[in-house]
Amino acid sequence: MYINLAGLTVLVTGASRGIGHAIASRLGEAGATIAAHYSSHRKGAEGLVYEIGNDSKSFKADLSNMEEVRKLFIRVMDEYEGIDVLINNAGVAIKSDPGKDHESWLSDWEKTMAVNLTAPALLSKMAVQHFLKRGGGRIINISSRAAFRGDTMEYQAYAASKGGLVSLTRSLARAYGKQGVKAFNIAPGFTKTDMAQDFIDAYGEDFATKDIALERLTEPKDIAPLVVFLASGMADHATGGTFDMNAGSYVH
Ligand code: NAP
Repeated sequence: MYINLAGLTVLVTGASRGIGHAIASRLGEAGATIAAHYSSHRKGAEGLVYEIGNDSKSFKADLSNMEEVRKLFIRVMDEYEGIDVLINNAGVAIKSDPGKDHESWLSDWEKTMAVNLTAPALLSKMAVQHFLKRGGGRIINISSRAAFRGDTMEYQAYAASKGGLVSLTRSLARAYGKQGVKAFNIAPGFTKTDMAQDFIDAYGEDFATKDIALERLTEPKDIAPLVVFLASGMADHATGGTFDMNAGSYVH
C-alpha cells in the first residue's frame, strides 16, 4: 500500500522539534505541503520546510496567546488556498508543585490549558468553519496517555488538558462527520523528546521505562506513520477514536 498525500496542505503545530517535527517530515515525504508552525525554534521549522519542499512554509505564533492563534490560522489561509488537515501537536508540560502559592500554581494551570486545550479548540473551530465550506477535512489531535491514566500531581494540569482534548475531538467527530469532517486522537506515552527529558530529569529514566512492554522508549519516528495514515483518509471510519501509542504501558 502506497500513501500519496500530494495535493494536501497540512497545518502542523509545534513542527519545530520533537513529535511535530517527525510528523511534518513524514507527511512531507508522502507529498503533502506543510504549514509548519513554531514558537521559539525558528531554525527547526525553517530547516524542516527547506528539507520537505512542496511549497511548505513556516509560521510563528505563541499558542498561549489566542490573538496569535487566530492570526496564525488566517495567515496560513492567506498563504494557501486552504488546508485539508489540521494537526494540533504543540504542547507544554509544566511541572507545578501543588504546594506552591495559588497565584503561581494558577498561572501554570492557565498556561497549560491555553496551549494544550484552548489553542487547539480555537484552531479546530476555525478549521471546521473552513472545512464545512469546502466539503470536509481532518483534524488530528496529539493527546497523551495521561488523559486516561492520569499523571503525577505536579503534572495534573497537563493530564486534565489532554483529557479535555480527547473530549473535544470526540465532540467534533460526532457533530460534523456527516459534513465530511473527521477528527482523531493519538495518545502517546513517554516519547523521546525534550518534553520527556523534563520528566526524566524530574523522576529518573527508570520511571519512564519500567512500565513499557517493548524494549526501547517510543521515539517521534514511531508516531509519525500513524498520522500519515490518518491524514490519508484510509481510517476515516475510526473518526472520534483514540489511538494509543504507548509501547504497551497503559492498555485500556
Ligand atoms: P517538545 O519536544 O517539547 O516540543 C513541543 C513543541 O510545542 C515545540 O515545537 C514547541 O515550539 C511547541 N510549543 C511549546 N509551547 C508553545 C507555545 N506557547 N506556543 C506555540 N508552540 C509551542 O514536545 P513533544 O514531546 O514533541 O510533544 C508534542 C506533543 O506530544 C505535545 O502535545 C505533547 O503533550 C504530546 N505528548 C508528548 C509525550 C512525550 O513523552 N514526549 C507524551 C505524550 C504526549 P518551539 O520549539 O518552536 O517553541
